[in-house]
Amino acid sequence: MTAHSRVLTSLDGQRYHFEPGNFCLELLVTGGPGPGEAYEILHAPDDLAAWLVDSRLAEVAPVRIEDLEITAEALAYTRRFRDTMWSVGTAIAHGQAPEKSHLQVINEAVGPLPRPRIDLETGKRAWAPPITGAQIVGAAAREAIDIIDSPRLRQCASDNCYLLFLDTSRPGNRRWCSMERCGNRHKVRQHRSRKGVVSS
Ligand SMILES: [Zn+2]
Repeated sequence: MTAHSRVLTSLDGQRYHFEPGNFCLELLVTGGPGPGEAYEILHAPDDLAAWLVDSRLAEVAPVRIEDLEITAEALAYTRRFRDTMWSVGTAIAHGQAPEKSHLQVINEAVGPLPRPRIDLETGKRAWAPPITGAQIVGAAAREAIDIIDSPRLRQCASDNCYLLFLDTSRPGNRRWCSMERCGNRHKVRQHRSRKGVVSS
């Protein structure tokens, strides 16, 4: 899937663009365990449906709310998968081995995928309805496996930011979730400390 950044809002109200690099990591911005709880947006099945409409699945073909069939169980399953992926992704980004039981959750989630099709009326790309919660998690799980040993799976280098991304830049030197957010805060701090050295 192609590049697709999302606009996130920090707890202090700043809006910034974040490009997670794949659909699995994009799913992590919907909330998570620990510090992610404050960002939780998946409270009901409709919340996941609304979020998917703007997800990178829509880069392949439009995601129509009426084509989504998300049950309460599927929402709970999606959240469980997402929270597990937070642990796995964070471990990998720090060069640690993820827990085997967590890897098992990913393996078990590999299954059905959303099915692309050609709309016979318009001749354009579409998703075959219904798009189910299991298909959503299935798509994320395959991408989790794609990046399971990738040195480009990183966590934002800021001390108080947990965002995980796949660095798809050509030089492979991406450090920040977003230049607008953590990259800029780092530059400001560097600038201040340099000024401090000059004036002392
Ligand atoms: Zn960050």
